Amino acid sequence: MYILVLNCGSSSVKFQLVDGRDQGCMARGLVERIGLPAPRLVYRLRDGAPLKKELSITDHAGAIAVALDMLTDPVYGVMKDKAEVVGVGHRVVHGGERFSDSVRITKEVLGEIKACERFAPLHNPHNLRGILVCQELLPGAPQVAVFDTAFHQTMPPEAYLYAIPMALYAKLKIRKYGFHGTSHKYVSEQAARVLGRPLDDLKIITCHLGNGASMAAVQGGKSVDTSMGFTPLEGLVMGTRCGDIDPACVTHIMYEEKLSPTQVDDLLNKKSGMLGLCEATSDMRDIENHAMEGLEKFRLALDIYCRRIRKYVGAYAAVLGGVDALVFTAGVGENSPIVRRMVCEDLGFLGVRLDEAKNERSELIISTGSVAVLVIPTNEELAIARDTIAVIGDGSPNIA
Ligand code: ADP
Repeated sequence: MYILVLNCGSSSVKFQLVDGRDQGCMARGLVERIGLPAPRLVYRLRDGAPLKKELSITDHAGAIAVALDMLTDPVYGVMKDKAEVVGVGHRVVHGGERFSDSVRITKEVLGEIKACERFAPLHNPHNLRGILVCQELLPGAPQVAVFDTAFHQTMPPEAYLYAIPMALYAKLKIRKYGFHGTSHKYVSEQAARVLGRPLDDLKIITCHLGNGASMAAVQGGKSVDTSMGFTPLEGLVMGTRCGDIDPACVTHIMYEEKLSPTQVDDLLNKKSGMLGLCEATSDMRDIENHAMEGLEKFRLALDIYCRRIRKYVGAYAAVLGGVDALVFTAGVGENSPIVRRMVCEDLGFLGVRLDEAKNERSELIISTGSVAVLVIPTNEELAIARDTIAVIGDGSPNIA
Protein backbone atom coordinates (compact mmCIF):
# COMPACT_ATOMS: atom_id res chain seq x y z
CA MET A 1 0.00 0.00 0.00
CA TYR A 2 2.78 2.47 0.95
CA ILE A 3 6.00 3.44 -0.73
CA LEU A 4 8.89 4.54 1.48
CA VAL A 5 11.16 7.09 -0.18
CA LEU A 6 14.67 7.42 1.23
CA ASN A 7 17.45 9.90 0.57
CA CYS A 8 20.50 8.83 2.58
CA GLY A 9 23.29 11.41 2.87
CA SER A 10 26.57 11.27 4.79
CA SER A 11 25.06 12.47 8.07
CA SER A 12 21.33 12.57 7.32
CA VAL A 13 18.42 10.44 6.18
CA LYS A 14 15.39 12.12 4.58
CA PHE A 15 12.31 9.93 4.41
CA GLN A 16 8.77 10.19 3.13
CA LEU A 17 5.89 7.74 3.13
CA VAL A 18 3.75 7.98 0.01
CA ASP A 19 0.34 6.36 -0.43
CA GLY A 20 0.63 4.09 -3.49
CA ARG A 21 -3.00 4.70 -4.49
CA ASP A 22 -3.38 8.48 -4.58
CA GLN A 23 0.36 9.26 -4.40
CA GLY A 24 -0.26 11.59 -1.45
CA CYS A 25 2.43 12.20 1.18
CA MET A 26 1.38 10.54 4.47
CA ALA A 27 4.34 11.67 6.58
CA ARG A 28 7.91 12.82 6.12
CA GLY A 29 10.95 13.43 8.21
CA LEU A 30 14.65 14.06 8.52
CA VAL A 31 17.13 12.33 10.80
CA GLU A 32 20.19 14.53 10.97
CA ARG A 33 23.60 14.65 12.65
CA ILE A 34 24.08 10.89 12.21
CA GLY A 35 27.50 9.97 13.61
CA LEU A 36 27.82 13.43 15.21
CA PRO A 37 26.98 14.71 18.70
CA ALA A 38 23.26 15.28 19.37
CA PRO A 39 21.54 13.54 16.45
CA ARG A 40 17.87 14.49 16.08
CA LEU A 41 14.67 13.77 14.22
CA VAL A 42 12.30 16.29 12.65
CA TYR A 43 9.04 14.60 11.65
CA ARG A 44 5.71 15.80 10.34
CA LEU A 45 2.43 14.29 9.29
CA ARG A 46 0.78 15.29 5.98
CA ASP A 47 -0.27 18.75 7.16
CA GLY A 48 0.96 18.62 10.73
CA ALA A 49 3.34 20.77 12.74
CA PRO A 50 6.92 19.50 12.96
CA LEU A 51 7.78 17.21 15.84
CA LYS A 52 11.38 17.32 17.04
CA LYS A 53 13.13 14.61 19.01
CA GLU A 54 16.68 14.13 20.32
CA LEU A 55 18.06 10.71 19.39
CA SER A 56 20.80 8.41 20.59
CA ILE A 57 21.54 6.67 17.29
CA THR A 58 25.05 6.34 15.87
CA ASP A 59 24.57 5.15 12.28
CA HIS A 60 22.24 4.90 9.28
CA ALA A 61 20.75 1.62 10.52
CA GLY A 62 19.65 3.43 13.69
CA ALA A 63 18.31 6.37 11.68
CA ILE A 64 16.17 4.22 9.38
CA ALA A 65 14.92 2.19 12.36
CA VAL A 66 13.84 5.48 14.01
CA ALA A 67 12.00 6.50 10.82
CA LEU A 68 10.12 3.19 10.73
CA ASP A 69 9.34 3.46 14.47
CA MET A 70 7.82 6.92 13.92
CA LEU A 71 5.80 5.79 10.90
CA THR A 72 4.32 2.93 12.97
CA ASP A 73 4.02 4.88 16.24
CA PRO A 74 0.53 4.46 17.82
CA VAL A 75 0.15 8.25 18.21
CA TYR A 76 2.22 9.84 15.42
CA GLY A 77 2.38 6.95 12.98
CA VAL A 78 0.42 6.42 9.78
CA MET A 79 0.57 2.63 9.46
CA LYS A 80 0.11 -0.24 11.88
CA ASP A 81 2.96 -2.37 10.68
CA LYS A 82 6.07 -1.77 8.61
CA ALA A 83 4.97 -4.70 6.45
CA GLU A 84 2.51 -2.23 4.86
CA VAL A 85 5.51 -0.78 3.00
CA VAL A 86 5.26 -2.50 -0.39
CA GLY A 87 8.29 -0.86 -1.93
CA VAL A 88 11.25 1.37 -1.11
CA GLY A 89 12.51 4.02 -3.52
CA HIS A 90 16.08 5.16 -2.96
CA ARG A 91 17.64 8.30 -4.33
CA VAL A 92 21.00 7.22 -5.73
CA VAL A 93 23.20 10.07 -6.88
CA HIS A 94 25.35 8.38 -9.51
CA GLY A 95 24.38 5.64 -11.92
CA GLY A 96 27.30 6.20 -14.29
CA GLU A 97 26.65 5.19 -17.90
CA ARG A 98 24.96 1.99 -16.86
CA PHE A 99 21.57 3.32 -15.74
CA SER A 100 19.32 5.42 -17.94
CA ASP A 101 16.21 4.65 -15.89
CA SER A 102 15.11 3.59 -12.43
CA VAL A 103 15.67 -0.09 -11.67
CA ARG A 104 14.68 -2.75 -9.19
CA ILE A 105 17.64 -3.43 -6.94
CA THR A 106 19.24 -6.82 -7.40
CA LYS A 107 22.62 -8.15 -6.38
CA GLU A 108 23.97 -7.11 -9.77
CA VAL A 109 22.54 -3.58 -9.44
CA LEU A 110 24.13 -3.27 -5.99
CA GLY A 111 27.48 -4.12 -7.56
CA GLU A 112 26.97 -1.46 -10.26
CA ILE A 113 26.06 1.20 -7.67
CA LYS A 114 29.19 0.29 -5.76
CA ALA A 115 31.25 0.56 -8.96
CA CYS A 116 29.90 4.14 -9.36
CA GLU A 117 31.28 5.11 -5.94
CA ARG A 118 34.42 6.36 -7.66
CA PHE A 119 32.33 9.07 -9.37
CA ALA A 120 30.40 10.13 -6.25
CA PRO A 121 32.51 9.19 -3.21
CA LEU A 122 30.55 11.54 -0.95
CA HIS A 123 27.12 10.21 -1.94
CA ASN A 124 26.91 6.71 -3.39
CA PRO A 125 28.39 4.90 -0.34
CA HIS A 126 25.64 6.36 1.86
CA ASN A 127 22.91 5.63 -0.70
CA LEU A 128 24.19 2.06 -0.81
CA ARG A 129 24.25 1.82 2.99
CA GLY A 130 20.57 2.85 3.08
CA ILE A 131 19.69 0.08 0.63
CA LEU A 132 21.51 -2.57 2.65
CA VAL A 133 19.85 -1.43 5.88
CA CYS A 134 16.41 -1.60 4.23
CA GLN A 135 17.09 -5.10 2.96
CA GLU A 136 17.46 -6.09 6.62
CA LEU A 137 14.68 -3.98 8.14
CA LEU A 138 12.11 -4.46 5.35
CA PRO A 139 13.02 -7.86 3.91
CA GLY A 140 9.70 -8.30 2.10
CA ALA A 141 9.72 -4.99 0.25
CA PRO A 142 11.25 -4.70 -3.21
CA GLN A 143 13.65 -1.80 -3.55
CA VAL A 144 14.17 0.55 -6.44
CA ALA A 145 17.11 2.83 -7.24
CA VAL A 146 16.26 6.21 -8.78
CA PHE A 147 19.39 7.90 -10.12
CA ASP A 148 20.12 11.64 -10.30
CA THR A 149 22.11 10.97 -13.46
CA ALA A 150 19.64 8.71 -15.32
CA PHE A 151 17.51 11.40 -17.00
CA HIS A 152 20.59 12.90 -18.66
CA GLN A 153 21.72 9.64 -20.24
CA THR A 154 19.85 10.70 -23.39
CA MET A 155 22.41 13.45 -24.06
CA PRO A 156 24.21 12.95 -27.36
CA PRO A 157 28.00 12.43 -27.34
CA GLU A 158 28.58 15.96 -28.63
CA ALA A 159 26.96 17.22 -25.42
CA TYR A 160 28.55 14.83 -22.93
CA LEU A 161 32.13 14.50 -24.20
CA TYR A 162 34.82 16.91 -23.02
CA ALA A 163 37.60 17.89 -25.41
CA ILE A 164 40.30 15.97 -23.57
CA PRO A 165 42.17 12.91 -24.92
CA MET A 166 39.57 10.26 -25.77
CA ALA A 167 41.75 7.73 -23.96
CA LEU A 168 40.74 9.37 -20.68
CA TYR A 169 37.07 8.90 -21.47
CA ALA A 170 37.73 5.26 -22.27
CA LYS A 171 39.90 4.67 -19.21
CA LEU A 172 38.39 6.89 -16.50
CA LYS A 173 34.91 7.49 -17.95
CA ILE A 174 35.45 11.23 -17.69
CA ARG A 175 32.43 12.87 -19.35
CA LYS A 176 29.44 15.01 -18.48
CA TYR A 177 26.85 13.02 -16.50
CA GLY A 178 24.59 15.75 -15.13
CA PHE A 179 22.59 15.68 -11.89
CA HIS A 180 19.20 16.75 -10.45
CA GLY A 181 17.75 14.53 -13.20
CA THR A 182 14.74 13.49 -11.12
CA SER A 183 13.81 17.14 -10.65
CA HIS A 184 14.40 18.21 -14.28
CA LYS A 185 12.29 15.27 -15.46
CA TYR A 186 9.49 15.94 -12.97
CA VAL A 187 9.16 19.67 -13.68
CA SER A 188 9.34 19.24 -17.45
CA GLU A 189 6.50 16.69 -17.27
CA GLN A 190 4.51 19.05 -15.03
CA ALA A 191 5.15 21.93 -17.45
CA ALA A 192 3.59 19.93 -20.31
CA ARG A 193 0.56 19.22 -18.10
CA VAL A 194 0.20 22.88 -17.13
CA LEU A 195 0.45 23.97 -20.77
CA GLY A 196 -1.93 21.22 -21.86
CA ARG A 197 0.46 20.19 -24.62
CA PRO A 198 2.17 16.87 -25.37
CA LEU A 199 5.65 16.71 -23.85
CA ASP A 200 6.86 15.22 -27.15
CA ASP A 201 6.24 18.54 -28.91
CA LEU A 202 7.94 20.80 -26.38
CA LYS A 203 11.34 22.46 -26.12
CA ILE A 204 11.83 23.26 -22.44
CA ILE A 205 14.65 24.85 -20.45
CA THR A 206 14.50 23.86 -16.79
CA CYS A 207 16.30 25.81 -14.03
CA HIS A 208 16.70 23.94 -10.73
CA LEU A 209 18.00 26.68 -8.43
CA GLY A 210 18.58 25.41 -4.90
CA ASN A 211 21.79 25.35 -2.89
CA GLY A 212 23.07 23.21 -5.71
CA ALA A 213 21.83 24.51 -9.05
CA SER A 214 21.65 23.20 -12.59
CA MET A 215 19.82 23.71 -15.86
CA ALA A 216 18.72 21.30 -18.55
CA ALA A 217 17.67 21.54 -22.18
CA VAL A 218 14.74 19.14 -22.58
CA GLN A 219 13.49 18.23 -26.05
CA GLY A 220 10.42 16.03 -26.35
CA GLY A 221 10.80 14.97 -22.71
CA LYS A 222 14.46 14.00 -23.11
CA SER A 223 17.48 15.76 -21.69
CA VAL A 224 19.77 16.86 -24.52
CA ASP A 225 22.14 19.00 -22.45
CA THR A 226 22.68 20.00 -18.84
CA SER A 227 24.93 22.36 -16.94
CA MET A 228 26.41 20.06 -14.28
CA GLY A 229 29.11 17.77 -15.53
CA PHE A 230 31.39 14.97 -14.39
CA THR A 231 30.55 16.16 -10.89
CA PRO A 232 27.93 18.63 -9.56
CA LEU A 233 30.60 21.38 -9.60
CA GLU A 234 30.25 22.48 -13.22
CA GLY A 235 27.80 25.03 -14.58
CA LEU A 236 25.88 27.64 -12.65
CA VAL A 237 27.13 29.70 -9.72
CA MET A 238 25.76 27.91 -6.65
CA GLY A 239 25.52 28.50 -2.90
CA THR A 240 29.09 27.38 -2.22
CA ARG A 241 30.22 25.88 -5.58
CA CYS A 242 32.01 27.92 -8.23
CA GLY A 243 30.40 26.43 -11.34
CA ASP A 244 32.16 27.05 -14.67
CA ILE A 245 35.76 28.16 -14.28
CA ASP A 246 38.87 28.08 -16.46
CA PRO A 247 40.45 24.73 -15.46
CA ALA A 248 43.86 26.45 -15.51
CA CYS A 249 42.74 28.44 -12.43
CA VAL A 250 42.58 25.21 -10.48
CA THR A 251 46.18 24.19 -11.10
CA HIS A 252 47.32 27.80 -10.61
CA ILE A 253 45.55 28.06 -7.22
CA MET A 254 47.01 24.71 -6.16
CA TYR A 255 50.50 25.83 -7.12
CA GLU A 256 50.36 29.35 -5.64
CA GLU A 257 48.42 28.48 -2.46
CA LYS A 258 50.19 25.13 -2.02
CA LEU A 259 46.92 23.21 -1.85
CA SER A 260 46.46 19.46 -2.21
CA PRO A 261 43.77 18.03 -4.54
CA THR A 262 41.51 17.52 -1.52
CA GLN A 263 42.03 21.09 -0.34
CA VAL A 264 41.32 22.66 -3.73
CA ASP A 265 38.27 20.41 -4.08
CA ASP A 266 37.06 21.74 -0.74
CA LEU A 267 37.74 25.35 -1.79
CA LEU A 268 35.78 25.08 -5.04
CA ASN A 269 32.90 23.02 -3.60
CA LYS A 270 32.41 24.53 -0.16
CA LYS A 271 33.97 28.00 -0.03
CA SER A 272 33.20 29.40 -3.47
CA GLY A 273 29.99 30.31 -5.30
CA MET A 274 27.82 32.96 -3.63
CA LEU A 275 29.60 32.39 -0.31
CA GLY A 276 32.96 33.08 -1.90
CA LEU A 277 31.72 36.18 -3.73
CA CYS A 278 29.87 37.71 -0.77
CA GLU A 279 32.36 36.51 1.84
CA ALA A 280 29.43 36.24 4.23
CA THR A 281 26.63 33.83 3.35
CA SER A 282 25.37 31.39 0.74
CA ASP A 283 21.72 31.97 1.64
CA MET A 284 19.93 33.71 -1.25
CA ARG A 285 17.40 35.41 1.04
CA ASP A 286 20.18 37.18 2.96
CA ILE A 287 22.03 38.00 -0.25
CA GLU A 288 18.94 39.58 -1.80
CA ASN A 289 18.23 41.59 1.36
CA HIS A 290 21.78 42.97 1.47
CA ALA A 291 21.72 43.70 -2.26
CA MET A 292 18.46 45.65 -1.85
CA GLU A 293 20.06 47.60 1.00
CA GLY A 294 22.60 48.67 -1.61
CA LEU A 295 25.61 46.65 -0.44
CA GLU A 296 27.75 46.45 -3.57
CA LYS A 297 29.37 43.06 -2.96
CA PHE A 298 25.97 41.37 -2.69
CA ARG A 299 24.59 43.20 -5.74
CA LEU A 300 27.56 42.07 -7.78
CA ALA A 301 27.21 38.45 -6.59
CA LEU A 302 23.53 38.49 -7.59
CA ASP A 303 24.44 39.94 -11.01
CA ILE A 304 27.03 37.20 -11.57
CA TYR A 305 24.57 34.50 -10.46
CA CYS A 306 21.78 35.68 -12.78
CA ARG A 307 24.04 36.44 -15.75
CA ARG A 308 25.33 32.84 -15.69
CA ILE A 309 21.76 31.51 -15.79
CA ARG A 310 20.92 33.91 -18.64
CA LYS A 311 23.95 32.70 -20.61
CA TYR A 312 22.76 29.13 -20.29
CA VAL A 313 19.24 30.10 -21.38
CA GLY A 314 20.77 31.55 -24.55
CA ALA A 315 22.97 28.51 -25.06
CA TYR A 316 20.11 26.06 -24.59
CA ALA A 317 17.76 28.04 -26.82
CA ALA A 318 20.45 27.58 -29.48
CA VAL A 319 20.87 23.87 -28.69
CA LEU A 320 17.11 23.30 -28.85
CA GLY A 321 16.58 25.55 -31.88
CA GLY A 322 13.97 27.59 -30.00
CA VAL A 323 12.20 27.40 -26.68
CA ASP A 324 8.55 26.91 -25.70
CA ALA A 325 8.90 27.06 -21.93
CA LEU A 326 11.34 28.26 -19.30
CA VAL A 327 10.78 26.59 -15.93
CA PHE A 328 12.01 27.78 -12.53
CA THR A 329 12.11 25.37 -9.60
CA ALA A 330 13.73 24.59 -6.18
CA GLY A 331 14.33 27.02 -3.27
CA VAL A 332 15.48 30.04 -5.26
CA GLY A 333 13.60 29.26 -8.48
CA GLU A 334 10.27 28.82 -6.70
CA ASN A 335 10.59 31.71 -4.26
CA SER A 336 12.67 34.51 -5.71
CA PRO A 337 10.87 37.01 -7.97
CA ILE A 338 14.09 39.04 -8.01
CA VAL A 339 16.21 36.25 -9.51
CA ARG A 340 13.50 35.35 -12.04
CA ARG A 341 13.17 39.00 -13.09
CA MET A 342 16.93 39.49 -13.41
CA VAL A 343 17.30 36.26 -15.44
CA CYS A 344 14.47 37.17 -17.82
CA GLU A 345 15.58 40.78 -18.31
CA ASP A 346 16.73 41.39 -21.89
CA LEU A 347 15.47 37.98 -23.06
CA GLY A 348 12.63 39.70 -24.94
CA PHE A 349 14.38 38.87 -28.23
CA LEU A 350 13.66 35.18 -27.48
CA GLY A 351 10.01 35.85 -26.69
CA VAL A 352 10.49 35.87 -22.91
CA ARG A 353 8.31 38.53 -21.27
CA LEU A 354 7.36 38.49 -17.59
CA ASP A 355 4.08 39.58 -16.06
CA GLU A 356 5.57 41.50 -13.14
CA ALA A 357 2.56 41.08 -10.83
CA LYS A 358 2.31 37.34 -11.42
CA ASN A 359 6.07 37.00 -10.96
CA GLU A 360 5.84 38.84 -7.62
CA ARG A 361 3.17 36.38 -6.48
CA SER A 362 5.17 33.36 -7.78
CA GLU A 363 2.16 32.19 -9.80
CA LEU A 364 2.34 29.05 -11.91
CA ILE A 365 2.53 30.96 -15.23
CA ILE A 366 4.32 34.30 -14.98
CA SER A 367 4.77 35.28 -18.63
CA THR A 368 2.97 37.22 -21.34
CA GLY A 369 5.33 36.51 -24.27
CA SER A 370 5.55 33.57 -26.68
CA VAL A 371 7.79 31.63 -24.28
CA ALA A 372 5.81 30.32 -21.30
CA VAL A 373 7.70 31.07 -18.08
CA LEU A 374 6.57 28.75 -15.31
CA VAL A 375 7.19 28.41 -11.58
CA ILE A 376 6.80 24.74 -10.75
CA PRO A 377 7.54 23.36 -7.27
CA THR A 378 9.78 20.35 -7.61
CA ASN A 379 8.89 17.18 -5.74
CA GLU A 380 11.74 14.71 -6.02
CA GLU A 381 10.24 12.40 -3.39
CA LEU A 382 6.99 12.08 -5.32
CA ALA A 383 8.94 11.49 -8.52
CA ILE A 384 10.93 8.73 -6.78
CA ALA A 385 7.71 7.19 -5.43
CA ARG A 386 6.14 7.27 -8.92
CA ASP A 387 9.17 5.59 -10.45
CA THR A 388 9.15 2.99 -7.67
CA ILE A 389 5.50 2.24 -8.37
CA ALA A 390 6.20 2.05 -12.10
CA VAL A 391 9.00 -0.45 -11.52
CA ILE A 392 7.30 -2.69 -8.93
CA GLY A 393 3.57 -1.98 -9.40
CA ASP A 394 1.47 -0.18 -6.75
CA GLY A 395 0.97 -3.20 -4.50
CA SER A 396 -2.78 -3.31 -5.11
CA PRO A 397 -4.19 -6.82 -5.44
CA ASN A 398 -5.01 -7.74 -9.04
CA ILE A 399 -8.75 -7.75 -9.60
CA ALA A 400 -9.85 -10.23 -12.25
P1 ADP B 1 18.72 22.30 -1.47
O1 ADP B 1 19.55 22.29 -2.73
O2 ADP B 1 19.53 22.25 -0.22
O3 ADP B 1 17.54 21.34 -1.49
P2 ADP B 1 16.68 24.39 -1.65
O4 ADP B 1 16.04 23.95 -2.92
O5 ADP B 1 15.90 24.25 -0.38
O6 ADP B 1 18.12 23.79 -1.46
O7 ADP B 1 17.07 25.94 -1.84
C1 ADP B 1 17.76 26.64 -0.84
C2 ADP B 1 17.97 28.07 -1.33
O8 ADP B 1 16.70 28.66 -1.60
C3 ADP B 1 18.67 28.93 -0.30
O9 ADP B 1 19.69 29.71 -0.91
C4 ADP B 1 17.54 29.84 0.17
O10 ADP B 1 18.02 31.08 0.58
C5 ADP B 1 16.72 29.98 -1.09
N1 ADP B 1 15.38 30.48 -0.81
C6 ADP B 1 14.40 29.93 -0.08
N2 ADP B 1 13.34 30.78 0.03
C7 ADP B 1 13.68 31.91 -0.67
C8 ADP B 1 13.03 33.15 -0.93
N3 ADP B 1 11.81 33.42 -0.46
N4 ADP B 1 13.69 34.07 -1.67
C9 ADP B 1 14.92 33.83 -2.14
N5 ADP B 1 15.60 32.67 -1.92
C10 ADP B 1 14.98 31.73 -1.20
